[in-house]
Amino acid sequence: MKKFIDLGLSPKVMKAINDVGYDTPTPIQSEAIPHALEGRDVLGIAQTGTGKTAGFTLPMIHKLARGRARARMPRSLVLAPTRELAAQVAENFEQYAKYVKLDMALLIGGVSFKDQDRLIDRGVDVLIATPGRLLDHFERGKLLLTGIEIMVVDEADRMLDMGFIPDIERIFKLTPFTRQTLFFSATMAPEITRITQEFLQNPKLVEVARQATTSENITQNVVCFKADNRKLEAKKKRDLLRTIIENEGDKLTNGIVFCNRKVDVDIVMKSLKKHGHSVGAIHGDLDQRYRMEVLAGFKNNDITLLVASDVAARGLDIPAVSHVFNFDVPIHAEDYVHRIGRTGRAGRKGWAFMLCLPHEIKHLDKIEELVKQAIPRLEIELPALKNQENKKRAKKIDKQIQTNPAEKHQELKSSKTAQTKSSDGMKSSKDTEDKVTQKDTQKLPVKGLGEHVPAFLLR
Ligand code: AMP
Repeated sequence: MKKFIDLGLSPKVMKAINDVGYDTPTPIQSEAIPHALEGRDVLGIAQTGTGKTAGFTLPMIHKLARGRARARMPRSLVLAPTRELAAQVAENFEQYAKYVKLDMALLIGGVSFKDQDRLIDRGVDVLIATPGRLLDHFERGKLLLTGIEIMVVDEADRMLDMGFIPDIERIFKLTPFTRQTLFFSATMAPEITRITQEFLQNPKLVEVARQATTSENITQNVVCFKADNRKLEAKKKRDLLRTIIENEGDKLTNGIVFCNRKVDVDIVMKSLKKHGHSVGAIHGDLDQRYRMEVLAGFKNNDITLLVASDVAARGLDIPAVSHVFNFDVPIHAEDYVHRIGRTGRAGRKGWAFMLCLPHEIKHLDKIEELVKQAIPRLEIELPALKNQENKKRAKKIDKQIQTNPAEKHQELKSSKTAQTKSSDGMKSSKDTEDKVTQKDTQKLPVKGLGEHVPAFLLR
């Protein structure tokens, strides 16, 4: 196994690595860094958690240490799909470049153009940006990309999902063809292959085993359930989520709740907050400052639960999460691996729960195919909903008895069977519901029958 010292990094970079406390390079680092230092293009097939950020920042710092930036002409460019990811790359640069004098600017939405322009005007060595914001600056005539020596595209597969590929192509064309390119993607969709063929020159392919399997440290469960209509489905999902969170007790130190849609991120966040949980949300439409604050709060444990969309959470380096909750079954099976990979890291134990409605079963099937295992089904009782349903049922029975008890016998029996059938498919709660119905019936004031309660009503 290679050591950092074998990779050829400068003493100043090595000193920073020492300070951070890494002893051995990760596989992507030991493979990519020597080639990047030689000046070769690198095509890294790796996802977050593999150490790829240091894989490209360390050689960049080493190489950029020599030379000076000119006004409005950055010397290197890192493109990241989301603001958070760009900010995270910037944090990494700050850490690893602390003994090297390099100027850096972060161009992301939600930060004033004026401040960013001022930095660029002075000249920066490293420009870290989201594609849209970079092009905004370029179009305003504030930026020249003809001095780019090294260009990094990070999380290209996410760029593709977010529709950034045309922007990336445009940016590539604005930079000199003599540049060195370091390109990272977790998957190689045809569109991404096409781009790499067009813009990378004889790249060194560095592939880190894809994480198609989920960690053995993670206990996974899925709760399959159904409800009578869409509104109830959503409510029941929120109730189930809360019940699971509450059942987990002290095991849950912090957790991420993933939703497929931004609108649900908001709703779930508000619902958890209303029920007294310490919670924050991140998704693409939220104000940048708020997103940063939430993330910082989550990292320093002020916030216990983070409700997030995939895009906003992708690539974020959040250490040690005890729980991941999939409020929705992810549509892309690979997202499941990414999501639950947030827990059970570095040998720690983790728990992953997923809620699955009948229309999501097709996605669940795909996930199970990908991870090559069946995710254990869990049956959960819903105290809140059950009580409401029981109250309604008790009222109905009461009414029926008042109208005509004898005639209602058969109806009551069949209604009970129907209720049992239309229950969630969750065995334990079905049994309990039956018991509760019987108990409640005993308590009902039976009118028009004197003291005698017919046996069928007690069955
Ligand atoms: P990344 O895949 O770049 O998001 O990195 C994932 C995590 O691994 C981050 O928390 C890094 O700080 C950490 N990391 C990166 N390189 C190393 C290393 N060589 N040894 C230990 N941890 C590392």
